[in-house]
Amino acid sequence: MASEDCLFCRIAAGGLPAHVLHEDDHILAFLDLYPVRPGHTLVIPKAHHVWFEDLPPDLATRITTCAQGLARAMKRLYGVPRVSMLYTGIHVAHAHAHVVPMHHVHDVTSLAYLGEGPEGFTAPPQLPPEEMARIAGDLKAALRA
Ligand SMILES: [Zn+2]
Repeated sequence: MASEDCLFCRIAAGGLPAHVLHEDDHILAFLDLYPVRPGHTLVIPKAHHVWFEDLPPDLATRITTCAQGLARAMKRLYGVPRVSMLYTGIHVAHAHAHVVPMHHVHDVTSLAYLGEGPEGFTAPPQLPPEEMARIAGDLKAALRA
C-alpha cells in the first residue's frame, strides 16, 4: 500500500527527486535533505509501513544489510570511527533508518548524555537494582503479551 500523502512513498515511486544511493525492488537509500553530517542517508522500505517494529523481518534485514554496506563505505570515505543507524519515527510517518557517519560522539545523541555539555559524555545515572528488576519484569511481561 502507498499513500499519496506520504512523502517517502512518493520518493519510492519516483515521483519526487532524491539523491539515490541504492535501489532494489524492496528498499531505497537516499541522502537526507537535512543531514546531521554530509552523507547522512535514509534507508526506507518501498512499501508503506509507519513503524519499524511493523516491518516484516526480511524487509528489516534488507534495510539493515544496506545500512551495513553504507557504514563500511562511510568509514572508508570519511575516515570516521563509527556510523550510527537508528529509527526515530519523528519526521515522516513511513519507517526510515537514519545512517549517519559519526564525526563526533554527540552527532546522534540523547540529552541524557549531555550533562557535561557537548564536549563531554555523561553516563546517565544508574537506577537502583530493585527498580531495574521491576523494569525488566514489566518488559518481559509486555514481551509475552
Ligand atoms: Zn509511505
